[in-house]
Amino acid sequence: MKQSTSISQTAPGLWRVLCAFWPYVQQQWSLLLVSGIALLADVGLRVLEPWPLKIVFDYVLIPVNDAETTDLFGQANLDPIILLTIAVLSIVSVTGLRAIAGYWSTVSLAILGSRVMAQVRNRLYRHLQRLSLDYHSKARSGDLIVRVSSDANRLQEILLTAALPLVVSVLTLASMIGVMAWLDFKLTLLSLVTFPLFGFAATRLSRRIRSASLQQRQREGAVAATAAESLSAIKLVQALSLEDAFADVFDQQNRSSLAESVETKRLAANLERTVDVLIALGTALVLWYGARLVIQDALSPGDVLVFLTYLKNAFKPVQNFAKYTGRLSKAAASGERILNVLEQKPDVCDRTDATPAPIFKGSVQLQNLHFAYTPDQEILKGINLSVQPGQQIALVGPSGSGKSTLMSLLLRLYDPTAGQLKIDGQDIRDYTLESLRPQISVVLQDSLLFAATIRENIAYGIAGASDREIEAAARLANAHQFIMALPRGYDTVVGERGSTLSGGQRQRVAIARAAMRRTPILILDEPTSGLDNASEQAVAEALRRLAQNRTTFLITHDLHLATPADQILYMEQGQVVEQGNHSELMRKNGPYATLFRMQSAIQDDVILSHC
Ligand code: ADP
Repeated sequence: MKQSTSISQTAPGLWRVLCAFWPYVQQQWSLLLVSGIALLADVGLRVLEPWPLKIVFDYVLIPVNDAETTDLFGQANLDPIILLTIAVLSIVSVTGLRAIAGYWSTVSLAILGSRVMAQVRNRLYRHLQRLSLDYHSKARSGDLIVRVSSDANRLQEILLTAALPLVVSVLTLASMIGVMAWLDFKLTLLSLVTFPLFGFAATRLSRRIRSASLQQRQREGAVAATAAESLSAIKLVQALSLEDAFADVFDQQNRSSLAESVETKRLAANLERTVDVLIALGTALVLWYGARLVIQDALSPGDVLVFLTYLKNAFKPVQNFAKYTGRLSKAAASGERILNVLEQKPDVCDRTDATPAPIFKGSVQLQNLHFAYTPDQEILKGINLSVQPGQQIALVGPSGSGKSTLMSLLLRLYDPTAGQLKIDGQDIRDYTLESLRPQISVVLQDSLLFAATIRENIAYGIAGASDREIEAAARLANAHQFIMALPRGYDTVVGERGSTLSGGQRQRVAIARAAMRRTPILILDEPTSGLDNASEQAVAEALRRLAQNRTTFLITHDLHLATPADQILYMEQGQVVEQGNHSELMRKNGPYATLFRMQSAIQDDVILSHC
């Protein structure tokens, strides 16, 4: 984990994040203006805060002379009681106005922050979905989810809990020093004598606080990871009686996280008290020298009061600098994590001259197609194939021979390293992705359903689908009957990843989804694997109906499913070793025929053993 030790180390990252997100902030210029004005008003009013008291001191309690009263308000002989009333009212109004300004700067920044973050998060999510599978296969999905959710949140939160107070503190400090210097330069220098000590204590302790809180977070992460690991595998933990072993590890991590948390609090308390003492030291110095100036008539008692109040108000926030800078470095880290994803270019993207594809007829040509995931291992080694619209193609052969990879290329999830893949005579890279992929439907071995109703799952991504169309698709997929038998029918919400349905039911919903899309090209990747006999029959029948009049690619281990295909490709190690229809391949008596006879014999054995 990145360990930031000081704000100077954080600054470049923070600057990069700020530059990248600035255009989004600029779009919200009206909010920016409101928060800027409110922020300046807040600072100004903080500076004004002790002035009514000064007036009471100098002109009511200890009236100096008439001339000064005249100087103050441009009128001679102002009644001290009127002055007192004005001062008292000013105290209330300054504080009231400050409250309003503070409220608006917080609220407008909060709105600005959420709007910007909503935009950034949307962009991030869209971008992540567009990034190639190659990127996703290397990235950890948990980590990407954290980037979309908590990193984006943290960035927004920190704007309010660190950047705003930090800016207010720095501006207040600068303005107060300015006013103090205007009142009395020497006294200002004296009150700043303790300033280097402030700086020293704040930097030293802040650094230690940050590193302690970083360690605390790491330990908290470990505690959470242990809990997540054991709870997600609770069946295994209980079955192997690992409860105590996990509880011991958890206890140990919990204790050390606790120890770090106490250490963070101890250091923060240390800093707070140090600052208190330094403020007291500054106050003593100002009082000592300021009172002497008052006695010498070089300064008014009210001025000394202003100095003392400034000293307390301006330096107190220094205590929180550690907190703010710590948060800012976390914000920079989160922002950079988001930027690193946003700057990632998708490997597969539209060519500049790509055009929207017309509605496909469904002919597919592969010409000397080569592909490799990594440069050192070629997965597809020169595949050639010509498919007429509406033909059924079966891809068979041992696992790892490249069948699914070939289909990924058809969907343009990856681009070939050499050769061409054409649909209706045109290289698929000439089409925009947006117009290519919606024309191909996929049914996978374990079809993924979303945690939504069955109706929504069938019509996913199809705007305005009618109930009749959905039902027709479900009937085609042999799914209507089982759906109607569910307590809430089409409105039944399936669990995450469709976990509340059986494998066969999930497949049939997926087939209905493919039927809804009415695409000219269909990819079926082991759609019946892992199903029991009855489900397999229902799914196979649904698939036959689905495949009618569509160019269909079926990847299967079950050669009986492949027999009706117009062309069967037997693949081994990235090459097509045999090609033809079932009877041609049986006549050839090659690996396909051998495998087919073997599977038939096994099936016969199974039937006999049941008899
Ligand atoms: P099949 O579908 O015939 O079982 P695949 O197309 O899934 O074969 O895999 C072909 C080869 O490519 C295998 O050796 C597999 O390990 C490898 N492979 C598959 N996906 C990836 C990937 N994302 N990155 C690297 N290698 C992969």
